[in-house]
Amino acid sequence: MTAVVILGGGTAGWMTACLMARAWPGAAITLVESPAIGTIGVGEGSTPQLRGFFRTLGVDEAEWMPACDATYKAGISFHGWSREPGFASYFHPFASAIDLHTQPAFHAATLARRTGHAVAAHPDGFFLASRLAAAGRAPTPAATFPFEVGYGYHFDAGKLGEWLRGHAVARGVVHRPARVAGVAVDADGQVRHVILDDGETLAADLFVDASGFRGVIARQALNVRFRAFASNLFCDRAVAIPTPLTGAPAVQTRATALSCGWAWAIPLTSRIGNGYVYSSRFCSPEAAEAELRAHLGGTDAPARHLQMDVGRLETTWTGNCLAVGLSQGFIEPLEATALHLVQTTVEAFIAAWQDAGFTPAGRDAFNARIARRIEGIRDYIVAHYRMASRDDTDFWRANAASDELSDDLKALMTRWFTGGDVAAEIAARDLGGFYAPMSWEVLFAGYGTFPDPARLRPAPDPVDRAGIARLLDGCLANFADHATALARLGGETLALRAVAG
Ligand SMILES: Cc1cc2nc3c(=O)[nH]c(=O)nc-3n(C[C@H](O)[C@H](O)[C@H](O)COP(=O)(O)OP(=O)(O)OC[C@H]3O[C@@H](n4cnc5c(N)ncnc54)[C@H](O)[C@@H]3O)c2cc1C
Repeated sequence: MTAVVILGGGTAGWMTACLMARAWPGAAITLVESPAIGTIGVGEGSTPQLRGFFRTLGVDEAEWMPACDATYKAGISFHGWSREPGFASYFHPFASAIDLHTQPAFHAATLARRTGHAVAAHPDGFFLASRLAAAGRAPTPAATFPFEVGYGYHFDAGKLGEWLRGHAVARGVVHRPARVAGVAVDADGQVRHVILDDGETLAADLFVDASGFRGVIARQALNVRFRAFASNLFCDRAVAIPTPLTGAPAVQTRATALSCGWAWAIPLTSRIGNGYVYSSRFCSPEAAEAELRAHLGGTDAPARHLQMDVGRLETTWTGNCLAVGLSQGFIEPLEATALHLVQTTVEAFIAAWQDAGFTPAGRDAFNARIARRIEGIRDYIVAHYRMASRDDTDFWRANAASDELSDDLKALMTRWFTGGDVAAEIAARDLGGFYAPMSWEVLFAGYGTFPDPARLRPAPDPVDRAGIARLLDGCLANFADHATALARLGGETLALRAVAG
């Protein structure tokens, strides 16, 4: 690759710049962004994959985390999604290697319960990440702990963008603050150049559209079709209100079901990011803001209202344009997968381009792979709403009644409800690369979707619960509490900020 123009300086644009500068050190990479338009400024949680991003760049946590007010994330705790007794909350853990010792027991417990036996099958007692979150320990073990532990991060999205910009610019990426006012497309559908508002034109071999929901190149100039997900994902707006951090930051994102969607709480070292993702079909912005304020205990901090285009482009790579980030598509923030998709997309594009260049075969295979990945994540998110046993509002009743489910999702739900092997179905359908069997079983079990408790038959417990508790408690000794782990990265100031009210 000799010349790349990236349009957009949000997290997606700068992540792309960092990865491409590393993959193609000789390429001339220019990133254009309009300071007047600005970035979306939300997106504060990651999956464990972001660790791989920083590893690829050769960057230690101590270099970026303190600069971005970042904290560790062991998983997501879900509250109020189920009305089944005993299932008011559950924790979706990020996987770690020690789960190999506890996952089979969890599977056995859920199978017994699904087939009508009176066996406790709530997921929370089975996984290291849940234990770490409950104990407020950072998921970064002592060097002597012989198991890989998966974790993600929480961070200030604006600060992460700035940090990535510094990293990319130091590696030769040219930063060009300007608005793109036009895109020149030739008869073959190839982008020739973009036209800046001062009249300058920028030509390149590859154009990356990271312009956010505006979709300046892919959607507007190339007319790439957008497939909306509104048929089974109803949330299309959000309102965000930060609150002060009180005490040490939690090691988890909290996702609480509200009347027309759900609220996130993301602990940073400087504040807690909060927001309410809701459906405009069922709730006005004013009502959503009022409900979020009440949920937060009556704060009068300023609110930001956001619209979300939930769906995906038909093709992520079109001609010589690659769409990444919100311009490529957005599923919604539950499970925090957006930056995960940016990373996957850019890494897969670099590999595909290096294998086959700008060939239709390489492009088609890449597009099919990315589309499948997005649809795979979509299924998992749809399941959160479809399986929720709330029927207290029109929003939740509409979700419960939704029959717009993919064949994959229907097959997994059928397996679960008929006492079948969910893992085998995931393997047969090759879905394990999106969400592993553990995640699916935790979701189904966490919602308490089991046969009627009144009809359960007594059965011997197939699980050595005391043994699992001993194992997980023993592991805890290898993990420092969160504030201490953060202080090790950032020194005294960070430790003080982590406990400030
Ligand atoms: C409510 C909400 C919560 C979210 N939570 C999460 C989360 O927890 N985890 C996660 O991974 N993701 C989350 N996301 C998604 C995340 O915010 C985005 O994926 C991420 O910030 C990347 O955005 P972006 O760079 O694609 O777009 P943006 O941040 O919108 O950046 C677009 C860029 O394009 C530039 N631009 C646009 N038009 C032009 C033009 N004509 N000329 C020049 N420049 C232009 C803008 O100036 C800007 O620099 C969330 C999103 C929403 C809406």
